[in-house]
Amino acid sequence: MQFSDLGIDTRLCAQITHQGITTPTDIQAQAIPLALAGYDLFAQSKTGSGKTLAFLLPAVQRVMKQKALSKRDPRVLIVTPTRELATQVYTQLRLLIAGTALSALKVLGGENYNDQVKALRKDPHFVVGTPGRIADHLEDCSLHLAGLEMLIFDEADRILDLGFSEQVELINKSADHRLRQSLLFSATLEHAQVGALSRNLLKNPKGVSISAAT
Ligand code: ADP
Ligand code: MG
Repeated sequence: MQFSDLGIDTRLCAQITHQGITTPTDIQAQAIPLALAGYDLFAQSKTGSGKTLAFLLPAVQRVMKQKALSKRDPRVLIVTPTRELATQVYTQLRLLIAGTALSALKVLGGENYNDQVKALRKDPHFVVGTPGRIADHLEDCSLHLAGLEMLIFDEADRILDLGFSEQVELINKSADHRLRQSLLFSATLEHAQVGALSRNLLKNPKGVSISAAT
């Protein structure tokens, strides 16, 4: 099986082939077609199984191929628990959108706030960040989620373990639910709080879970 069999566009396939990635992992094979079809998704698989591309490929393809539903950017917001993870996701995202007119911004705690406010005014299509700093920008209205089409939580279990449930709630209620598709990725399923979060966040979600044995 190849990424093109999952519905991934030729340009994106070429981009990941260039990185030496040709065969989808289990979580990618299951999650990508559902995400491309527009479903909300709850996806679980262990660390190192390729969850980043499982959400980035459908997100980039959507923004590349589908007309924006509103004039407001960002179209995609990706929330990760830590600065390191946000940087990894952002780096992979930049590779996928290289050579296109699409723009991405990283908003992390510990970096200059006013520089981020200025960069947000340029209306990036994708924003990747940590929950605390995203919440700060929402509270002072430097980030607007009225046009958000995809809300993605990466490592949702760790986001909650780190005590960010209030920020998650603020992000959730700031985005227009009529326009929005939501994807929740987690390394674990057992987390009671993750179940509560998925009920709160997701509309008629499809669940994908890859057991540790596979
Ligand atoms: P997770 O988020 O599930 O912990 P990552 O998305 O960080 O996993 O991916 C782990 C590593 O596997 C990364 O170095 C990534 O480039 C690589 N990778 C992802 N998908 C594939 C694939 N289909 N084939 C080979 N390597 C892959
Ligand atoms: Mg990951």
